[in-house]
Amino acid sequence: MEHLKYFKDADYSINSIQLFREISPENRQQIANVIQNCSVVKAKAGQMVLDAHSFGTRVFIVLKGILGNSINDQDPSQLENSKTQYLAGECVGEISVLDEEIYSSNIAAICDSELLLIDAETMWKLINESNGVARNLLQLLSFRIRAANAQIRNRQKVGEFYRQLSMVDGLTGLHNRAWLNSQLPNMIETSQANGNPLSIIMVDLDHFKRFNDEYGHVVGDDALQTAAKVLSAGLRPTDFAARYGGEEMIVILPNTNEQSGLIVANRLCHRLQKTPVFADTQIALPHVTASFGLSTLREGQDGTVLIAAADAALYRAKEAGRNQVSL
Ligand code: GH3
Ligand code: MG
Ligand code: MG
Repeated sequence: MEHLKYFKDADYSINSIQLFREISPENRQQIANVIQNCSVVKAKAGQMVLDAHSFGTRVFIVLKGILGNSINDQDPSQLENSKTQYLAGECVGEISVLDEEIYSSNIAAICDSELLLIDAETMWKLINESNGVARNLLQLLSFRIRAANAQIRNRQKVGEFYRQLSMVDGLTGLHNRAWLNSQLPNMIETSQANGNPLSIIMVDLDHFKRFNDEYGHVVGDDALQTAAKVLSAGLRPTDFAARYGGEEMIVILPNTNEQSGLIVANRLCHRLQKTPVFADTQIALPHVTASFGLSTLREGQDGTVLIAAADAALYRAKEAGRNQVSL
């Protein structure tokens, strides 16, 4: 960076610098003496001021211009699209000087800027000689901690949003297989620990290949969505429905024994056969039906065994003629 001159209080007011505000006149003079020989350097627009891999041996105070976070090591002019900007009076690099670790981010000049360069030794001298500087630095650090916490919270929210999104089936809006894999073991564990029953129903649309062949995949998708809606609408808020794969769905019924599970499965079966497929077609569509296999958790069973039992029950429902429930 181009060296312009040495800092003179006459050129740049010490009062306008955050680190030096609200300091007694005598102490201000002391500070002026310490920093008068610090360099004032010029950073051109797009030039890197601090790069994230170098060690923290200097603090820069913005005297004129604006600094911002740069996302690219190689090309500092690619600035992060964030609101974090360092305006005249603010400083950068102070945390790394304090802990002697590397800088945590790349900082570049957004426009031509003039910066007061304070090396680590001088910075420590200022801290040791002025309670005011130490106090201002503490305030600045708490501000930085709060800003960093807010950023972490935001990232967590975004992460949670995508995690939730990745657990939902795009076509039906039901939970997906990944969700099932992550949740079913917990539900089984809770049920076993509390001695409460748990039932699951495996649902498979009947002759769905034929339906697709006859009306096309797009109408087939409509039929699948219709079936998913019938399932969701027919469950209690504490029950769950997930798309297991293809035209197979699974219903999880916590706190439900075999007898109650049968009632739920029969209700869903009847509702589905009565529900017309809502599709954007002129032709009348046949109502889709499904076969339902119910299994209720027995001692020592895990998710795989429980699902296999529901699958076997489903097979029996198919064998018995479809559009019905089997144990
Ligand atoms: P069964 O009564 O024995 O279950 O007969 P089926 O025809 O339903 O069973 P099969 O396993 O032979 O065929 C399943 C069909 O489901 C074939 C496949 O194209 C269709 N399918 C699976 N996923 C989707 C989907 O997302 N959209 C559409 N439209 N069809 C699907
Ligand atoms: Mg199938
Ligand atoms: Mg099928």
